[in-house]
Amino acid sequence: MIFSETKAAVDLVKDLAALLRQTGNYDPVLIQKFDDLRGQVLTAYQTEIELYKEVDSLNEKVRQLEARLELQQMSYDKASGLYFVENGGKRDYYCQRCADADKKQVRVTEQSHGWTCRACNQFYQTEQQNRNSRMIETVDPDIRNRSTMW
Ligand SMILES: [Zn+2]
Repeated sequence: MIFSETKAAVDLVKDLAALLRQTGNYDPVLIQKFDDLRGQVLTAYQTEIELYKEVDSLNEKVRQLEARLELQQMSYDKASGLYFVENGGKRDYYCQRCADADKKQVRVTEQSHGWTCRACNQFYQTEQQNRNSRMIETVDPDIRNRSTMW
């Protein structure tokens, strides 16, 4: 339900016509003019409702297009398999899977040995990070649990 000045005008014209009728001594042409006016204002009100719906629909389209544009503005980092956006000299990384499959821009959480997407749990790491992880695992599997190493 949309409350507006136009809706208030519809009610006002209706009230005025009713008051005029109560006087008992009214010009039928004047009543007809009031009814015509009421019809006109009612049409304007219905048009207003349609316009509100149109604005809502367009706002939703703009939101979707902005989201798509943000996805298209991302670059691909071949080494990690992540998308990124340059942000003041540093990179913000985003999940490739979420962007490609779900058309969503989801930041990944940086970890010592790679990145994880909290939306889809996809794990990403560069070849170098993968080698480092395996090397440490080979040397001492427990060393990865030591926070000082990471
Ligand atoms: Zn993801």
